Amino acid sequence: MSVRVVVGGGISGVCCAQELARLNPNEEIVIVTATETLLEAKSVFAWSKYLEEIDIFEKTADQFVLSNPNIRIVEDLIDAINPDSHTVHLKS
Ligand SMILES: Cc1cc2nc3c(=O)[nH]c(=O)nc-3n(C[C@H](O)[C@H](O)[C@H](O)COP(=O)(O)OP(=O)(O)OC[C@H]3O[C@@H](n4cnc5c(N)ncnc54)[C@H](O)[C@@H]3O)c2cc1C
Repeated sequence: MSVRVVVGGGISGVCCAQELARLNPNEEIVIVTATETLLEAKSVFAWSKYLEEIDIFEKTADQFVLSNPNIRIVEDLIDAINPDSHTVHLKS
C-alpha cells in the first residue's frame, strides 16, 4: 500500500489531503505539520463567479481526525525532502 505525504496543516495542505483521501480511499494519507493545529475549510459560499466566502476552523489533530478518519496527522518539522527516493526526513 502506498502512502501519500502532504506537508503542512494550513488550508492548502488540508484541502490537498482531503482531496487525495477522496480520490484514493484505499491509500494512506499523512499530513506532516509543524504546528499543533490544522485549518479546515467549511461552508463555502459563492457570492459571485470569482468571490467566495469560506468559514475556516482551527482544529487539534484529535478533533481533525474525527471528521477525517482516513487522514493521519504527524506533528513534526520536515527538514529534507528527497524526490528521487520519495522520502521525507523529519527533524525528530
Ligand atoms: C493576519 C492574516 C490575515 C489573513 N486574512 C485573510 C483573509 O481574510 N482572506 C484570505 O483569503 N486570506 C487571508 N490571509 C492569507 C491566508 O491566511 C493565507 O493565504 C493562507 O493561510 C495560506 O495557507 P497555506 O496552507 O498555503 O499556508 P499556511 O497557513 O502558512 O500553512 C503552512 C503550514 O505548513 C506547515 N509547515 C511549513 N513548513 C513546514 C515543514 N518544513 N514541515 C512541516 N510543516 C511545515 C506550517 O506549520 C503550517 O501548518 C491572511 C493572512 C494573515 C497572516
